Amino acid sequence: MQRLVVLGSTGSIGKNTLDIARRTQKFDVVGLSCFRDTDALIEQIDEFKPKFVCVVDREFAKRVKQRFHYLEILEGKDGLVEMVQRNDVDFVVNALVGTAGLLPTYYTIISKKKLALANKESLVIAGKIIKDLAKAKNVEITPIDSEHSAIYQCLEGRRKEDVEKLILTASGGPFFKRKDFDSITVDEALSHPNWNMGKKITIDSATMMNKGFEIIEAHWLFDIPYKKIDVVIHKESIVHSAVEFVDGSIIAQIANHDMRIPIAYALFKPKRVSLPFKLDIASVGNLSFEKPDFRKFPTLTFAYKALREEKKNLGLVLNVADELAVSAFLERKIRFKDIFVILEKSVEMFESKIPSDILDVEQQIEWVRIGVLELINKIGGSK
Ligand code: MG
Repeated sequence: MQRLVVLGSTGSIGKNTLDIARRTQKFDVVGLSCFRDTDALIEQIDEFKPKFVCVVDREFAKRVKQRFHYLEILEGKDGLVEMVQRNDVDFVVNALVGTAGLLPTYYTIISKKKLALANKESLVIAGKIIKDLAKAKNVEITPIDSEHSAIYQCLEGRRKEDVEKLILTASGGPFFKRKDFDSITVDEALSHPNWNMGKKITIDSATMMNKGFEIIEAHWLFDIPYKKIDVVIHKESIVHSAVEFVDGSIIAQIANHDMRIPIAYALFKPKRVSLPFKLDIASVGNLSFEKPDFRKFPTLTFAYKALREEKKNLGLVLNVADELAVSAFLERKIRFKDIFVILEKSVEMFESKIPSDILDVEQQIEWVRIGVLELINKIGGSK
């Protein structure tokens, strides 16, 4: 049995990954991690009996220590990095949220483990470093993100030179039809029509920054120029993405919107395992597709700008700015529409550079973080 580590096991992707492990009984779950949700972690430890766990917030690690004396309990972000490098690990699912996912991705590849990646930030922040390293180490990164899993599946067995473009589908989020962004509350922004996800990604779906990050993620994952990556609004979330080929054929991946399907694919590819979440296609009715509104959702424009002006490494800037802006919005320090303002100003004001190594990335993140926090304080203060 393959020995599996699930980073971020108490989040939505983490729980779904463990459900696939539970249903298939094909993995030995040896490692789990959480940030602070030790209640959920304790339940998972009881069920999966891992050899080691990591609690990132050290204060919360104590609760787990009191309860499981036999278990190896790591702490802090260093603990995550230590976990993925252990010799008794074969496969890592990185379902961490945000910048915190970068170093674990990096060290998973360094130590040549199989990697299923749900943390898109790793590629948005440091796509070139991660991809170069994966190539050098001969490690394949399998995406868990539903859109990228779909594209991966559509590209399987095809020739790259036959690809005309990648078509990323987007639900459009809760505000696709909304005209006035002035009065959007946190609760409204947190209610996604189709997917049940963590808070950060739900807000990112509402601003469509999530789709912007997915454009950048697709560019790095599939080594496709940004001009060949399109976004189309598909509000039913049944077509998870598609690939158009030079002859005009479009191949799409269609399934229920249940993350366990792309997770199982990432864990078992190229094989498929039997799952009960089948789509009754006859009951779907109509599927709709339309162009996104770039003026209403400039987040898409920012993403294309980041890829167009590659030398400025704006993916890193966008990611840091978005992480801080979203948490300020969730803490009700800024308004929903201020997120767009902060992102726009950030890509205008800050310029990062192609990092030379992973330490350089960390330093650039810190540097941008300080600048963006100032910006947020200014905007939040004038509310
Ligand atoms: Mg996605």
